[in-house]
Amino acid sequence: MQFKDNPEQAKWRAEVRDFLATANPPRMPEDGNFEDDTDQREWRGKLAQRGWIAPAWPKEYGGAGLGVVEQFIMNEEFAEARAVAMGGAAVGFLGPTLIQYGNDEQKKEHLSRILAGETSWCQGYSEPGSGSDLASLQTRAIRDGDDFVINGQKIWTSGAHTSNWMFMLARTDPDAPKHRGISYLLLDMKTPGISIRPLINLAGRHGFNEVFFEDVRVPMRNVVGEINRGWYIGATTLDFERSSIGNSVGQRQVLERYIEHIKANKLGSESVRNTFAELWVEAAAAKLLSYNVISIQAAGRVPNHEASIAKLYNSELGQRIARAAMSALGLQGNLTEPGVAPLSGRAAMTYMGSVAGTIAGGTSEVQRNVIATRGLGLPRA
Ligand SMILES: Cc1cc2nc3c(=O)[nH]c(=O)nc-3n(C[C@H](O)[C@H](O)[C@H](O)COP(=O)(O)OP(=O)(O)OC[C@H]3O[C@@H](n4cnc5c(N)ncnc54)[C@H](O)[C@@H]3O)c2cc1C
Repeated sequence: MQFKDNPEQAKWRAEVRDFLATANPPRMPEDGNFEDDTDQREWRGKLAQRGWIAPAWPKEYGGAGLGVVEQFIMNEEFAEARAVAMGGAAVGFLGPTLIQYGNDEQKKEHLSRILAGETSWCQGYSEPGSGSDLASLQTRAIRDGDDFVINGQKIWTSGAHTSNWMFMLARTDPDAPKHRGISYLLLDMKTPGISIRPLINLAGRHGFNEVFFEDVRVPMRNVVGEINRGWYIGATTLDFERSSIGNSVGQRQVLERYIEHIKANKLGSESVRNTFAELWVEAAAAKLLSYNVISIQAAGRVPNHEASIAKLYNSELGQRIARAAMSALGLQGNLTEPGVAPLSGRAAMTYMGSVAGTIAGGTSEVQRNVIATRGLGLPRA
């Protein structure tokens, strides 16, 4: 097995690294929560010139046409430099879905606006009674002339309050088997009848929302693919979401920061030393699991239980790192106020934030089910 870059990959890595060293990118803040958009426009322009807003999109749609390995290398280098990338749901999941399933009119209307940062998108999938069993979703879209009329509710919609469009799944045939009566719709969030209620997370942040629909009209031209076949398109979007790893690089960096802090402040007891040594080994294992997923994709196959293994391990490792940091920092680790808290409050914020990692994008239990049944061939019940 070969773990080093081949000569072309090494050249590509050097190109990305050189660019980041000279282009003065905005950096991810200590607590990992990037909210300030003051210098994003200039940065977006620099990335756009190279097709690096959406590096994996084909060149004809404004991307750089990179393969999965090159994309992974780029993600690694951005993470190493703590440089802000312009990804997000629209670039990472919706764009590739539209490229695969959208019609020419939809591609023309939406892809260039995503790249220009004119539109930002949220994902309307989960409902109060439908998360892990997403295909049971109940939000209805009923045909009325040239429109669908939507009634129902979504929940946990990240960024609904800052997005001007939503890609969503709605039930368009209640009599069909549950996977076959769902359509994939693009919804302008300014359409009358939409109301958004904030949900504040454990860390006191407003990241996700409840979204309510009351007689919301969506034109037929905003249906992606065939009516009632949206489940399969929605699943493609989820595949893109679950494959967007790179997370393991982030885990190692977070760990490095804690280790520096522990060294500088002489916080090392025997238990701290043992725990962090163990986590260092686990972070190395996490990286190899990510490499496994990438190498499957690079060979033109779709990772399945392998992606679940990486997702499960990475998200649970994130929680173990967060718990270890809180324990090593003692009472001070609970502080969040910048200027007062050690590491600008990173320990407490990531401790609270890491809870979501084992829920979002499919819970740990769901990943274990996938690994057990599809990976190990164990019986379902
Ligand atoms: C930070 C964050 C951001 C999110 N952003 C979005 C978003 O933008 N758009 C969106 O649509 N959704 C979003 N979600 C929702 C997310 O997709 C769901 O929370 C997730 O799929 C789980 O669904 P649920 O919350 O309904 O839990 P449930 O499915 O009700 O699960 C409850 C518990 O039961 C367990 N469980 C369920 N089924 C099984 C089973 N078959 N076997 C064993 N155990 C099972 C689960 O593991 C879990 O512990 C977000 C969630 C988080 C945490």
